[in-house]
Amino acid sequence: MMPMRSHRCSKKNNMAINLESFLLALEQEVINYHTPVVDLIAAQTHDPFKILVATILSARTKDETTARASRRLFNEATDIHALAGLSEERIRELIKPVGFFNNKAKYLHRLPDALKSYVDKVPDELDELLKLPGVGRKTANLVLSVAFDKPAICVDTHVHRIMNIRGFVNTKNPEVTEMALRKILPVKYWKKVNSLLVVFGQAICKPVGPQCDCCLFEQDCPKNGVTPRRVKSKDTDTVKFISWNVNGLRAVEKKGFVDIVKGSGADIFAVQETRVWPEQLSDELKNIPGYSNYFAKAKKRGYSGVAVYTRRKPLNVTTGIGVDQFDDEGRVLTLEFADFFLTNVYFPNAQHGLKRINYKIKFNNALFEYVKQLAVKKTTIICGDFNVAHKAIDLANPEANEKNPGFSIEERNWMDRFIGAGWVDTFRIFNQEPGQYSWWSYRFNARSKNIGWRIDYFIINENSKSRLYSADILTDIPGSDHCPVQMELKTAIEG
Ligand code: SF4
Repeated sequence: MMPMRSHRCSKKNNMAINLESFLLALEQEVINYHTPVVDLIAAQTHDPFKILVATILSARTKDETTARASRRLFNEATDIHALAGLSEERIRELIKPVGFFNNKAKYLHRLPDALKSYVDKVPDELDELLKLPGVGRKTANLVLSVAFDKPAICVDTHVHRIMNIRGFVNTKNPEVTEMALRKILPVKYWKKVNSLLVVFGQAICKPVGPQCDCCLFEQDCPKNGVTPRRVKSKDTDTVKFISWNVNGLRAVEKKGFVDIVKGSGADIFAVQETRVWPEQLSDELKNIPGYSNYFAKAKKRGYSGVAVYTRRKPLNVTTGIGVDQFDDEGRVLTLEFADFFLTNVYFPNAQHGLKRINYKIKFNNALFEYVKQLAVKKTTIICGDFNVAHKAIDLANPEANEKNPGFSIEERNWMDRFIGAGWVDTFRIFNQEPGQYSWWSYRFNARSKNIGWRIDYFIINENSKSRLYSADILTDIPGSDHCPVQMELKTAIEG
């Protein structure tokens, strides 16, 4: 078992701090935090082969999952020769469900051949490591520092994120961060900066809802681009909802979906554009521990579809809105709970040339009538991909998109009428800033440049507004061209 020791909340007064002082303080701070899995495997085995394999497995994967997958794999592949005896399929079975397990199985299957040029040994030079399958700069640097004790800076998502949050660098991607750190980071910290920031990033400065309220560095941290978690008072009981257009549930499964749901803390996790029939789901997608699941599927295979994973047992589940023309596309799923309805919706796309605008507006109107009836009875939440940016502030280039699907006058007018009829866009209650987006095109590096659209929403009926606790966009979660959005609702006060 991994020694998992919990951290304690240790906010102290710690004014203006430079990079070295920050790392010195961090070293003291994380002494009792859990050890990152690759460091642990290094300490236990001192084996460059196992360190390399564990590092490949650890990308986009939680430490606990990496530790379990590594154990299963190393039981059968004790060394490079034993790995050569395993089929790609067997490797896949052993390492599942680490993120991108299909690709990683391919890389590991090719690894023994690739290492032949190095007499079956893991090379200890960056350029040589980079020639191995599945090895990028991050992996190569980690192997150099952990397995060979060489000065190398491994910049993973935590190092990149936290160095930017703290303002020590101002960079767009991990590679540029590595180059920037090479200039400013004392060499004695090159090897350890990764494990320091990984444990700190997992425990306190988390990608979603960093715990600034109990962070040692709270007073001097510029918190660049950060939305800190909100601290609940003891008597505030809330329900946490997450909604995400996953752009294919089976595709996002390979990118760590199950771990994302498990680690999200969501009571209710709604997804859109599942593009799957329930009977096609893997066991992992059917059995996320603690969650039951409900699906609305399209008649057409591989198209549309929505689902809800929930830790609370619903009283009733309804698929569709009672109109065949729309229900055939599997776009709506409603769960009724004691004190609220949740309607999870994947709105149609108006499509290029607004070819489907009439269908979309008819769908929107039918949905409008449907949720109106629900809101008469109790708090009603509508979440999902609305496929429209409501206002100019909700997309990066409003002028250029005025006639395009997702920002056409017809779609915006409908949204105006809908919101005007007594519904609340929850995110804008808490955040009126521009540049807040939930979807980015895959083209032109749009996400890294934040050229995006806010088209995913949590909407609540106005009479229940007093129950709102928070609403956020979880931009740090990769895996789809959308990121998840989140809302918390108080349960203590009835709507
Ligand atoms: S963003 Fe918050 S949690 Fe992260 S270092 Fe700054 S104060 Fe600490």
